Amino acid sequence: MRKKIIAGNWKMNVKPSETAALVTGIAEATKAFTNVEIVCCTPAIDVAAAVAAATGTQVSVGAENVHWEASGAYTGEISTGMLLDAGAKYVIIGHSERRQYFGETDETVNKRATAALKAGLVAIVCVGETLAERDAGQVEAVIVRQMKEGLKGLSAADAANLVIAYEPVWAIGTGRTATPDQAQEVHALIRRTLGELVGVEAAESVRIQYGGSMKPGNAAELLAQKDIDGGLIGGAALKADSFAAIIEAAAKA
Ligand code: PEP
Repeated sequence: MRKKIIAGNWKMNVKPSETAALVTGIAEATKAFTNVEIVCCTPAIDVAAAVAAATGTQVSVGAENVHWEASGAYTGEISTGMLLDAGAKYVIIGHSERRQYFGETDETVNKRATAALKAGLVAIVCVGETLAERDAGQVEAVIVRQMKEGLKGLSAADAANLVIAYEPVWAIGTGRTATPDQAQEVHALIRRTLGELVGVEAAESVRIQYGGSMKPGNAAELLAQKDIDGGLIGGAALKADSFAAIIEAAAKA
């Protein structure tokens, strides 16, 4: 049985001074749902405040990006060691907004994922096709390429700390969600591809999240799918009540 994992991606929202209230609100509202792994991935500047507020609760904290070098002259970047020192346990890697606006490629995804896993962070690696790619019938080719290039060189042991987020780009922040069948089809493809990369047994244990306008109203039907093991949530993670409602759906799935 794979434990469901619901992670919030705060993006460039929520100030350090607002962080404790949101984390505490989420922790209070989700106390009963002990069978779900709950993560808040925050802007780097919020991590310390989020960790302080999450300590002693069932909520864990992650970041939204990490550099692959351990230290050095990389102005503006943050290392795995810095995240761990601040108490973060998770990191999102290769989000489509980083691919779209900040030059992230499959190669840099691979470097970040490798560094994060080697350091002991849980890497939430994002894959997903654009609408143009879907319309052109390229979903499988895009997902398989992102997986094979982004996860190159990873072992079955690495897979223990790996989470994949399938985020169709056309569903992120748009209010448009993949249907449960559309999502399940790609999740099954992701698991098959993982099997080729790290072996079938390790692939069976990897959690695959769906992300893209997941909200309280559609979470249950998505999370009921065989290969959907959680959600990566943007907009609905910014309010304790909507995030908690998705976590409740995961607890009951
Ligand atoms: C995301 O950014 O990872 C995301 C899924 O956003 P939203 O839930 O707002 O579509």
